Amino acid sequence: MTANLESVRHVLERQLAEATAPTRELRVSMLIQQVADPLDMTLQAAERELTVQRLGLSSTLARRIQSAIERLDNGSFGLCLKCEDNIAPKRLNALPWAELCIRCQEENDLSDREQAAFRTVIDEAEAA
Ligand SMILES: [Zn+2]
Repeated sequence: MTANLESVRHVLERQLAEATAPTRELRVSMLIQQVADPLDMTLQAAERELTVQRLGLSSTLARRIQSAIERLDNGSFGLCLKCEDNIAPKRLNALPWAELCIRCQEENDLSDREQAAFRTVIDEAEAA
């Protein structure tokens, strides 16, 4: 089991490096100089928007991977954060930074969807 966890750590550390490496490149690309052409400026603004979204995505993943490594350190790796059951090894293989067992994840996804549906109802009510 210890050897197994070590290899999980290697995988996580590599993924963390991969998740943060493009972030550094993107940050550098955000420092591009201002251009005079208004069309170029619009394009640049659109690109920047996209870059910000990508930064957000990769930093979310980086945070998840980081906290999985912390769970490896404190011995709680592989336990669901919600119900503290073991997360299925298959799930951990596919998603080593998984924080929830499949059951809790499904519950979470479901309540996310319910909240999204609820928000839509409110938006529609406000728009009417
Ligand atoms: Zn659970």
